[in-house]
Amino acid sequence: MSEVDFKVVRRYLKMTDEVANLLATPERQLILYLNVNLERGENVIVRAYVVYHNTARGPAKGGIRMQEDVTLEETSALAELMAWKTALARLPFGGGKSGIAINPKGLSALVKRNLIQEFVHLIRPDLFAGSYIPAPDMGTGALEMAWIYGETHMPESVTGKPPRVGGLAGRQEATGRGSAHAARLAANHILDKPIEDATVAIQGFGNVGYWAARFLEGWGARVVAVSGRNEAIYCPDGLDVDRVHNHRRRKGSFDGYGRGTELITNARLLALDADILLPAGPGGVITARNAPKVRARAVVEGANGPTSLEADEILFKRGIHAVPDILANAGGVIASYLEWSDAKSGRISTADETFAEIEGNLGRAFNEVLTFSRDNKTTLRTASHVVAVREVMSAMYDRGWI
Ligand code: NAD
Repeated sequence: MSEVDFKVVRRYLKMTDEVANLLATPERQLILYLNVNLERGENVIVRAYVVYHNTARGPAKGGIRMQEDVTLEETSALAELMAWKTALARLPFGGGKSGIAINPKGLSALVKRNLIQEFVHLIRPDLFAGSYIPAPDMGTGALEMAWIYGETHMPESVTGKPPRVGGLAGRQEATGRGSAHAARLAANHILDKPIEDATVAIQGFGNVGYWAARFLEGWGARVVAVSGRNEAIYCPDGLDVDRVHNHRRRKGSFDGYGRGTELITNARLLALDADILLPAGPGGVITARNAPKVRARAVVEGANGPTSLEADEILFKRGIHAVPDILANAGGVIASYLEWSDAKSGRISTADETFAEIEGNLGRAFNEVLTFSRDNKTTLRTASHVVAVREVMSAMYDRGWI
């Protein structure tokens, strides 16, 4: 099933059934069986998936998700989102994604490295040809990318590397920076208030959630809640983001932080009365069941796929605008493009240049999507899907694929 409702998109773009089918279908789905040596001398077989959704606009670009229950379906959905995301940001990439079905927590660095090396061995021709360029996603980070680079010795073969290993200054913060900027644009252009007057509730406090919270706090917004997998912490006067982060790192939970805060559930966080709700954890959290309870005035999707298409319609009818994932979390792949092009040219970008690139690109895409949605009275998601699908379809036409 596609992430895009082609029945809706086809109201605005003419295409045959065959072309719609091509756009909705992955080009390639690989299942790998990684042979991993555990330290006790045991061998385990770990399933991994690599999916290219559409490469008409360039090589498949997309992160590696390491999560026990990741499936081929989830990896395919994420690869498809990357195809639309890179098109909306006009980056010369197609959509790709990988999933490795193991829980990274509790694995020693040695076993994890072994796993990544085995993964590289099985897709080596693609990495050397530059037809798939991985990056971090949930469960992986800069270290894993450094290991991939260690196998290929080609800095342009992988992005999200540590800055000292050919990575980009500002890449670690990039997705959170982009999501924070999307929230600022939503405050200014949708809620008609400056970000310093806005309250924000953030689900997830990992790479995306933490950096989004940090930048928003820095710009004067009140971050009223953040969450982990099992619990959330809430303070209507605004949290001290770094203090909360340090406490959680030390204690392993938000419990015991105090300072006028309250521990709440993730379900309550999603229904908080804040100006902006910024999901930055797993997908599928805003559904037809809980969308009627959302009280934020705008949703800014730091996470991939947090809102179902049905829930999106419910929010829209209730006057709540959702800035979709392919726009709101594109900061990561925009920075990845910069890292990739620096690796090819030998240029070294600064963190300020990275942030300027993200904000310039996102600002342009945001205006394009907002204008389409206002002119055609559609959700921002439909608008961004129409723009992205049109780009991919035109590229397929230019290449003689259709
Ligand atoms: P991460 O692993 O660093 O952080 C994930 C956070 O979500 C953690 O705080 C975790 O405790 C929390 N979480 C996990 N399960 C949860 C649950 N059931 N309910 C509530 N919270 C839960 O991952 P990340 O890299 O920050 O990615 C977060 C989201 O952003 C994902 O959807 C990912 O696909 C998307 N994304 C990430 C990037 C990137 O550059 N890292 C880029 C684009 C999109």
